Amino acid sequence: MPNKILLLDLTCDQLKGLLVSWGEPAYRANQIWGWLYRSLVSDFQEMTNLPKGLRERLAEATILRTMQPLEEKVSADGLTRKVLFALRDDQTIESVLMLYEKRRTACISTQVGCAFGCVFCATGQSGFVRNLTPGEIVEQVLYFAHLLKAEGERLTNVVLMGMGEPLANYEATWQAIETLTHEGGFNLGARRITISTVGLAPGIRRLAREGTQIGLAVSLHASTDELRDKLIPINRRYPLAQLMAACRHYFERTGRRISFEYALINEINDSPEQARQLAHLLDGLFCHVNLIPLNPVPESPYQPSPRGRILAFQAELNRLKVPNTLRVERGADIRAGCGQLRCQRMPKE
Ligand code: SAH
Ligand code: SF4
Repeated sequence: MPNKILLLDLTCDQLKGLLVSWGEPAYRANQIWGWLYRSLVSDFQEMTNLPKGLRERLAEATILRTMQPLEEKVSADGLTRKVLFALRDDQTIESVLMLYEKRRTACISTQVGCAFGCVFCATGQSGFVRNLTPGEIVEQVLYFAHLLKAEGERLTNVVLMGMGEPLANYEATWQAIETLTHEGGFNLGARRITISTVGLAPGIRRLAREGTQIGLAVSLHASTDELRDKLIPINRRYPLAQLMAACRHYFERTGRRISFEYALINEINDSPEQARQLAHLLDGLFCHVNLIPLNPVPESPYQPSPRGRILAFQAELNRLKVPNTLRVERGADIRAGCGQLRCQRMPKE
């Protein structure tokens, strides 16, 4: 039997092309698109406005879901839920749902593993396995959206901050974003989506050219090339001058304020002098700094800054009028925090 078509991997136009090649009218594609992304159905039988024959053909020739949730963990406070998914080739990824007062945010992965090897990141330590397809990126979102729908709620935000580097899997990531923002389907506002990047300057410029309103978060973590080279090896390829020029360009093209992620690592990047260097680097750029106490990961010797050092660093930023927030870390008890996601199944506690 020929390989089945993975429906979530198709753009709306490709779905139309498929239906037309089957001799169906093009509007059937819009109906199916609505079932997939508005009604969130995962069974062809629920597509009640399609003729029975078409439903049967779809069931024979295509697949609606490709990922199996293997394990779910909910944090002690009930506000963070982490899911380990098995993919069709038995690779695994993790995704996280975070409940805030007003927002329901899915943090999703774009690759199995990651090639960039940032020294403080669990995903980076496990190496790169493969890119996710557009459908696999979207399916993580649909999973959480469906879960929330069952509870009478809606997913409000998506952050591409899980495993992998979104801009190193540019095409699939961009297609997934187009699917999620498509008005005939999931219809998520572009401003509700944030891409986090390790700082691939050409990717940031390419994103700027899309003329999109999606948010950009840049994982900075150090304000000198000397230190950033050590923490984030790709900095040697795209040093700070190039990265910051790309960020300024992104702001000029989109008018959107950029977020800079700064994980505070004890005695490494958390002195008041380093806060001053950060202020200097960001001078004149419309931006916001997210301070994150480092999440310890077993593979890395780095430790989170103690509270006193965090507050002193933040006070220095405040004095220099650098907009910032100290992020309340979520889900560390289930290793769902930034940089703690990994491919393998976690050992049973
Ligand atoms: N590859 C992308 C997105 C995934 S990582 C990127 O690097 O931006 C998501 C965020 O978690 C990044 O800001 C990353 O720097 C941060 N991060 C990685 N390891 C961390 C750790 N141990 N503690 C806190 N943040 C971490
Ligand atoms: Fe990859 Fe981002 Fe982790 Fe760096 S921080 S290793 S780029 S996932």
